Amino acid sequence: MKMELKTLPLSHPKTKPQDEGKLNFGQIFTDRMFVMEYQAGKGWHSARIEPYGPFSLDPASAVLHYAQEIFEGLKAYRHPDGKIALFRPADNIKRFNCSATRMCMPEVDEEFFLSAIKELVRLEADWVPHNEGTSLYIRPTMIATDPYLGVKPSDTYLCYVILSPVGAYYKGGFSPVKIWISDQFVRSAPGGTGEAKTGGNYAASLRASMEAAAKGFDQVLWLDAVERKYVEEVGSMNICFYLDGKVITSPLHGTILDGITRRAILTLIKDMGIEVEERALSVEEILEGARTGRLKEAFGTGTAAVVSPVGQFTYRDETVSVGDNQVGELTLKLYETLTGIQYGQRNDPHGWIELI
Ligand code: PMP
Repeated sequence: MKMELKTLPLSHPKTKPQDEGKLNFGQIFTDRMFVMEYQAGKGWHSARIEPYGPFSLDPASAVLHYAQEIFEGLKAYRHPDGKIALFRPADNIKRFNCSATRMCMPEVDEEFFLSAIKELVRLEADWVPHNEGTSLYIRPTMIATDPYLGVKPSDTYLCYVILSPVGAYYKGGFSPVKIWISDQFVRSAPGGTGEAKTGGNYAASLRASMEAAAKGFDQVLWLDAVERKYVEEVGSMNICFYLDGKVITSPLHGTILDGITRRAILTLIKDMGIEVEERALSVEEILEGARTGRLKEAFGTGTAAVVSPVGQFTYRDETVSVGDNQVGELTLKLYETLTGIQYGQRNDPHGWIELI
């Protein structure tokens, strides 16, 4: 039997941001949220859209102690005709369920969850900003709520979706970033949770990010945990290298996130007739490529930035520049093509856009 989705009344709508140019990331939330609850033996129940507000949680709740938690991140975009579109939302929900399985949490019904997200965004449509590069960020989340301090999977969960209008990522222009390659900290290890979108991965990454920022770098490039030799991902993005006329990116074998932007970008690169290689790439190969000029471009991919050009890598005492620290032609073309599709300014030949 399909679950029913109730919509509760909203009595006190908030004032919407007046100046969209001042929107940042994830600081303002809309009027409503989606919530459903899980009980072992009963399954998901009580699905509703209700006014946004705090939860009351028992201080012993499992999520607060052992971080049994997962989340997702996707965006709603306003098209020139005023319609609102999601980008490959079913992929995010599938990944949510993969993360759930890894963390011993219950899966959601993909069809129901997608229709609930669409209904929430439909109700909050006036919160989708209009300025170029802005969007409405969608954050599905699931937390373990058993009030029990034993280390075991919870029997109860809360799944919710909140929405946040976000500003353009590139307010100061599309400019290359400086990357620090960490040979001390690692983000994930084989057999670990690197492939899951779970809070602990992000908590564990903070220390390296803070050290990188203190040294004047924008992002950390993570290496593999075993040999500290192969590239994994950068900050909260996947990473691609345009080396010797091919695009090379780390393969998906459990330690990195299977990015939805990565998938789209690799498809667009193949559409352009450029060869893609998913294989292990060593730091030395990157440094040597940059020294000799064979590494033409490097860029991160993710929902927040879409594409983030890399200008410099620093590893131990050596700093190398990529493409003279300028934004490369391929990087720019990929950025324009993908954002064009997301914002409804270009054809969508792969059917990635879903109007709500
Ligand atoms: N890697 C990590 C660790 C991330 O947090 C993200 C952002 N979700 C990505 C890669 C990029 O994934 P996506 O393209 O789906 O946003």
